[in-house]
Amino acid sequence: MTGHADAERQLDRAERLQRAVARDGPACVWCGRELSGLVRATTDHLVPRVQGGPSWLENEVAACRRCNGERGHASPVDWLLECRARGWPADPAWLRRRLEELDAAVAARGGQRRARPYVQAQLRRVRRLAGTA
Ligand SMILES: [Zn+2]
Repeated sequence: MTGHADAERQLDRAERLQRAVARDGPACVWCGRELSGLVRATTDHLVPRVQGGPSWLENEVAACRRCNGERGHASPVDWLLECRARGWPADPAWLRRRLEELDAAVAARGGQRRARPYVQAQLRRVRRLAGTA
């Protein structure tokens, strides 16, 4: 069957997105808009792909297309601060939990030589934010 491997990859990606929504709730993690109807869920990577972020559920969150596009390659903490400046409900405590799980996944699986220091630097920043919130 032509394209079978591609179809499986797509399914895996779609399944991960469903699981991210189940984990974080049916709203954009950044702006809080409900992900339904015209506001479609898209996969956003905490550690951007260009920074070596892996395609793991632990690195993936469900965001609306607008936030995904506007964030671009900004770090998750920089983008969280931008969201909050806009009055959106992006939650430092939530981001801290996500980054802690990602850090634990990297520690357990190994590798990720580019993503690992990136995650740890972001974790230090979000812990300072959460501490002063
Ligand atoms: Zn959004």
